[in-house]
Amino acid sequence: MHLARFPRVSLAHLPTPLEPLPRLSEWLGGPMIWIKRDDCTGLAGGGNKTRKLEFLMAEAIEQGADTVITQGATQSNHARQTAAAATRLGLGCHILLEDRTGSIEEDYNYNGNVMLNQLFEAPLQKYPGATDMNEAMAVRAEELREQGKRPYVIPGGGSNPTGALGYVNCALELLTQANDKHLRIDSVVHATGSAGTQAGLVAGLSASNSGIPVLGIGVRIPRAQQEENVYRLVEATLDKLNLSGTVARDAVRANCDYVGEGYGIPAQSTIDAIEMFARLEGILLDPVYSGKGAAGLIDLVRKGEFKSGQNVVFLHTGGAQALFGYRSAFNFSQYD
Ligand SMILES: *Cc1c(COP(=O)(O)O)cnc(C)c1O
Repeated sequence: MHLARFPRVSLAHLPTPLEPLPRLSEWLGGPMIWIKRDDCTGLAGGGNKTRKLEFLMAEAIEQGADTVITQGATQSNHARQTAAAATRLGLGCHILLEDRTGSIEEDYNYNGNVMLNQLFEAPLQKYPGATDMNEAMAVRAEELREQGKRPYVIPGGGSNPTGALGYVNCALELLTQANDKHLRIDSVVHATGSAGTQAGLVAGLSASNSGIPVLGIGVRIPRAQQEENVYRLVEATLDKLNLSGTVARDAVRANCDYVGEGYGIPAQSTIDAIEMFARLEGILLDPVYSGKGAAGLIDLVRKGEFKSGQNVVFLHTGGAQALFGYRSAFNFSQYD
């Protein structure tokens, strides 16, 4: 596996730290919990999309693009990181936002990631929930071509085989860090959405025969569908790496029991997890992804799925910038 064969631009601060969470681990009384700080990738607040964008933006530039188009939910972290990457590379960036939650709150619609997109001067267009966003991007791309632009379309979450290379790279980085620390990793847990993060991790960790299982905690769709999406992308990513057929279907595992009412709507367990990480470790999670991922981790530790004596790595995928879009989910309106 030699990733330097693929075009790449440098956008992220790498390697991201791999650190123990002693107070959280002690509080939960189960395994030692470690955190891989992909919230610290450095670009515009960081997050997991930056690793994918290193490969996606390089491909855009290689194809002669002068503009990128992407899509996501209103509080998309992917949109924010794409807008920042485009700015840094001198490209235009058009963002299509899908109203997946129906929230009419001012903070949700204008604060957090939305405000940051505007700071990067990315034109924003809003679409109703359940719009065919791939079709909408194709239409936008055609409009831009008619204006003489050369657009490059990045799928939602940056999740295609090119973007997933960013997480193949993360898998190799994590293995090197664990080997250097002589840390035996028993499991990796993280929030899974558009599938690129998990697909890249599984491809990298399985094809290198690490023996490290990955569990994705779903944030939107049911388990069978999520696992299918991830596995399809694992296979396509392995094809790109000339490693077809090296990863078994059962290497892809998702648990979608922590979604709550739906995508972008924090459950009580999400809020509890955000408060627990903040108050024990000073770490900021987010209400859409990492808070649900951590809620799954906490519950599975309590149920004994991860045991004392094991080392579990929680991959922090970022997203805390969305907290400011969700002020009303917390009851913090009074001073003490
Ligand atoms: C996009 C995102 C995820 C999910 O990653 P996918 O590659 O889309 O599965 C997790 N956490 C945060 C904070 C994200 O922005």
